[in-house]
Amino acid sequence: MMGDMRLRVARRRMVHEQLERHGIHDPRVLEAMGKVARHEFVDDVFASRAYGPNALPIGGGQTISHPRIVALMSQSLALRGTERVLEIGTGSGYQTAVLSLLASEVWSLERIPALAERAAARLRALGITNVHLRVDAGLGWEDQAPFDGILASAAAPEVPGRLLAQLAPGGRLVLPVGRGTRQNLLVLQRRGEDVTTRNLGPCRFVPMLGPPSGRARPEPGTAAGQDGTYPV
Ligand code: SAH
Repeated sequence: MMGDMRLRVARRRMVHEQLERHGIHDPRVLEAMGKVARHEFVDDVFASRAYGPNALPIGGGQTISHPRIVALMSQSLALRGTERVLEIGTGSGYQTAVLSLLASEVWSLERIPALAERAAARLRALGITNVHLRVDAGLGWEDQAPFDGILASAAAPEVPGRLLAQLAPGGRLVLPVGRGTRQNLLVLQRRGEDVTTRNLGPCRFVPMLGPPSGRARPEPGTAAGQDGTYPV
């Protein structure tokens, strides 16, 4: 394990070299990225690489995105601190933790129960209280809609209409769209009846999938509550 001090220095360098120099200019995003300890969201063996310009494995065949992608997606939502945000793909909970500092409340869905459970424990340990996690592989959290921002960190083959329908007026949806290696990071914004789309360029994410082995919710008796939510 690297010392805390060295990790703090590495994090500061990450913000400067990978973010500020590469198109991340929202001061709230830079501050949040400087605060959240990325090394807490990966296994100890990867801690020394937590602030490098790379994706890292988080178990279940999934990965935590590059710091710059996390910052870019967060910045694209143009959050000011009062928003309600939906995230698809909690994974390690790292992006969730960043969003929790940028928005008022975050609802986050993860299809793999073991990842959701570990993310819930990490967020709890960090004292984060404005996040709601649920084990689900659906397309959103309709009974909490509309959301001012929606961020998906798994790629959909095309823009899911059901997610767009959960956007509040003026709200933004950022997600990778495409298959395999042909994906683009899109930002859609609802403006009245219209939706505008901006393409931030090619990207590479894991695919958005249905429930593992056809089951969206954990069995009764596991750590999640009856409705599939985890206390954070
Ligand atoms: N943002 C995460 C990265 C997670 S990788 C982080 O910071 O660590 C993408 C995640 O999306 C994976 O954990 C995967 O299990 C999850 N996922 C894929 N399809 C999903 C769906 N339909 N609903 C919810 N989660 C999904």
